[in-house]
Amino acid sequence: MLFTTTEHTRLTMNEHTKHFIEQRIEADIASNKYEGKVVTRFPPEPNGYLHIGHAKSICLNFTMAANYRGRCHLRFDDTNPTKEEQEYIDAIKADVTWLGFQWDSLHHTSDYFEQLHDFAVKLIEQGDAYVCELNSEQMREYRGTLTEPGKNSPFRERSVEESLTLFAKMKAGEFEEGSHVLRAKIDMSSGNINMRDPVLYRILKATHPHVGDTWNIYPMYDYAHCLSDAIEQITHSLCTLEFQDHRPLYDWIVERLFPEPRPQQIEFSRFNLSHTITSKRKLKKLVDDNVVDGWDDPRMATLTGVRRRGFTPSAIRAFMESVGISKNDSVTDMSLLEEFVRDDLNQHAPRVMCVTKPLKIVLTDLDDDHNETLTLANHPQKPELGERKVAFTKTIYIEQEDFQLEPEKKFFRLAPGKEVRLRGSYVIKCNEVVTDANGNVTELHCTHDKDTLGKKPEGRKVKGVIHWISASVHRRCQVRIYDRLFNVEHPGASKDWDELMTKVNPLSLTVLDDCLIEENLASTAPESHFQFERLGYFVIDRYCQDEKALVFNRVVALRDSWSKQA
Ligand code: ATP
Ligand code: MG
Repeated sequence: MLFTTTEHTRLTMNEHTKHFIEQRIEADIASNKYEGKVVTRFPPEPNGYLHIGHAKSICLNFTMAANYRGRCHLRFDDTNPTKEEQEYIDAIKADVTWLGFQWDSLHHTSDYFEQLHDFAVKLIEQGDAYVCELNSEQMREYRGTLTEPGKNSPFRERSVEESLTLFAKMKAGEFEEGSHVLRAKIDMSSGNINMRDPVLYRILKATHPHVGDTWNIYPMYDYAHCLSDAIEQITHSLCTLEFQDHRPLYDWIVERLFPEPRPQQIEFSRFNLSHTITSKRKLKKLVDDNVVDGWDDPRMATLTGVRRRGFTPSAIRAFMESVGISKNDSVTDMSLLEEFVRDDLNQHAPRVMCVTKPLKIVLTDLDDDHNETLTLANHPQKPELGERKVAFTKTIYIEQEDFQLEPEKKFFRLAPGKEVRLRGSYVIKCNEVVTDANGNVTELHCTHDKDTLGKKPEGRKVKGVIHWISASVHRRCQVRIYDRLFNVEHPGASKDWDELMTKVNPLSLTVLDDCLIEENLASTAPESHFQFERLGYFVIDRYCQDEKALVFNRVVALRDSWSKQA
């Protein structure tokens, strides 16, 4: 059912101490509570794109099902017709698939509207629910506070028949929005406010993206969620800690309508990542306010964003596995995720040379038409990744930064009169510097030592190795250097939007046009990864369709430059 039931998952499963969810599942298997079955679900509300926080829940739900030979459902929790869109449904499916998981069945809470309605009728008949006519302000007043009990609604003791009639009229669209609600009859003096006769149904005369205009009443999350779990025979309903106080209500509702064995809700802590925002509402505002170029901007913490940035699903899964499951809220450092991405790409990405800010070099001791083919390994440790051919010609380009007119101490790259090695090629020496009228260096005249191909130079040490590209044999490309969108650790802690906007990193994107890259790339397919020698890991942009106009996004630098600053 799952691409990730790999050796890795199985190994780490055996090695690590079982977390509390695994312990609970194993206890239930041992006691045969669900006849040995394990059924989980990932239940997103389709009101935005998934973010990196959701990846935690996805990995957990699908991995638990896979590890215990169970099933995992994908369920769209579409009870709020005003915020939900088909675009989001499609994007969520694509993201879950990209992350490497395949749901065993696909559901929508709206598929159950008829059943949920019938259950509500049953609750009324059992004396467990009633139609209430308090308006929202009165409801708030009657609800009480954390320290004071609430008061019973004057409609609480109305007859079953009257509630049934009114509920039917609510359904038929005979009342205005806000005039009537269906409430559970629990306990207005409960210490848990969620148990003070919570609303189960409200009137909403909205068109639903899935079921159209069929309904004038819509179930509340707390009512729909637990019953959807029960209908689908979910065994372990895994959710984040903020739902802990809702668990008594979850159990109360299910107990009144379903026999044992019932689904059980188990909470774990939300996953938070430093330097990012993981709230669909705020991510949407970043898009709406054009702070970024869309939900899939490579600086966004959405799954579609990190995908376009070039983060790999296997790195994200391994990272989530290492972070583990807990009951304590914490923030994980972005550098750790980047380290997993780096590790993954280090193993798999072919190497290539790309010059982003070119400086011209003329090798004066070569003939004008010199064209020598050099062979370079695609990966220093993995011969199975093959080799590539690189043209060495009279004119080449190096990175501007790899030359200093007056070299600083410990600058081992090119400088007047100095030598440097060209990666996979010869040692060259800078004999002459050509400048323009303003004194800017425009080109260097160098000679090469023909005895240094794959060999150390005689009688001297040359420390520096730099990357380079032939001036006549190469491709042109655009390189986008992405960095973190926020330059503070906890952007989510900003008290308002204006404050958040002051935390945006002005250097989060630098676009470099006319970069030069080797002609023989291992692949020019969108989403192919490379290590640009000395520069970092890069990916061909997901939407790059024209192989003559290649666009590369920087995934991560070769080393972490952020933790040093801290
Ligand atoms: P948001 O506040 O961004 O809208 P949400 O929790 O409302 O997030 P849902 O679509 O309701 O988003 O979430 C689907 C599932 O993903 C839920 O089970 C939820 O608990 C889980 N989830 C959401 N955010 C996180 C997170 N940061 N860490 C772990 N699980 C999460
Ligand atoms: Mg939600």
